[in-house]
Amino acid sequence: MAKILDGKAVSQRVKNALKDETEKFVEKYGIKPGLAVVIVGDDPASRVYVNSKKKACAEIGYYSEEHALPESTTEGELLSLVEKLNGDEKIHGILVQLPLPKHINEEKIINAINPKKDVDAFHPVNVGKIMIGNFDFLPCTPAGVMELINEAGIDLTGKNCVVVGRSNIVGKPQAMLLLHKNATVTICHSKTKNIKEITKNADVLVAAVGRAQMFDGDYIKDGAVVIDVGMNRLENKKLVGDVDFESAAKKASCITPVPGGVGPMTIAMLMKNTLTAAKNAVLGK
Ligand code: NDP
Repeated sequence: MAKILDGKAVSQRVKNALKDETEKFVEKYGIKPGLAVVIVGDDPASRVYVNSKKKACAEIGYYSEEHALPESTTEGELLSLVEKLNGDEKIHGILVQLPLPKHINEEKIINAINPKKDVDAFHPVNVGKIMIGNFDFLPCTPAGVMELINEAGIDLTGKNCVVVGRSNIVGKPQAMLLLHKNATVTICHSKTKNIKEITKNADVLVAAVGRAQMFDGDYIKDGAVVIDVGMNRLENKKLVGDVDFESAAKKASCITPVPGGVGPMTIAMLMKNTLTAAKNAVLGK
């Protein structure tokens, strides 16, 4: 049976370390790292994520602000808020919870965030820095995956890594981070032919498609490391990943559960980015 990569435990260790660092930061500079979380509309999943982020801020000792705006908020109003937060000295990190309502152009909003406060690392400046490998922030979910792999003591050098999914927030940056660790990376997507033939050769499989339990044991190479980013709600309300845990765990050497795998790591990495942003701000970087 595969070893479980316990995201809950690892994220708690990351948060504990951040708490200690934050105490020292506050003592030295007399200010708290500050995160502003902006949510537009009342999507229940977004609400859950925002609450978890606020809770993590309180646990670590950050200052946090929530800006909950109605669904009817215009693009102009949201841009004005982002501008205000860009200029607010108490705020080191700005997170606009996605998805936004259809009438708001997400790209426009992301581009308006000061890249130094872009703790999601979605701004094109930060995306470009990740490509080059000289970055301030890493996008939270792929960074969380890397932390889990690192904690498990897995050396990626020369490993055949397959990322399924090519979104800007997960798949693409994930592939880049694996490449930076000297893996040989294949990216698959909805137009890829014979996905199973590709994943069956993966030493490390990262599933980020949003298709409940798509990857069963037949997709997995014996001894593979299986990372499940997916979060899918079944009709019976159960939360499952993109991987069929039961059958995949019989093949894998290590596997992340859902829930309790990548999800908690994402929030821990957001907290890490917020402290980085605060440190950079006080150092004038
Ligand atoms: P997107 O919908 O933006 O992207 C999904 C990707 O999967 C696309 O590249 C798409 O291909 C590909 N895809 C879809 N269906 C298939 C298929 N049948 N075979 C192969 N590829 C396919 O999703 P995200 O990247 O935002 O999220 C992916 C999953 O991760 C979701 O379940 C989401 O909930 C979860 N998630 C979890 C987080 C966490 O903290 N644990 C954080 C963020 C996301 P194409 O580009 O061709 O359309």
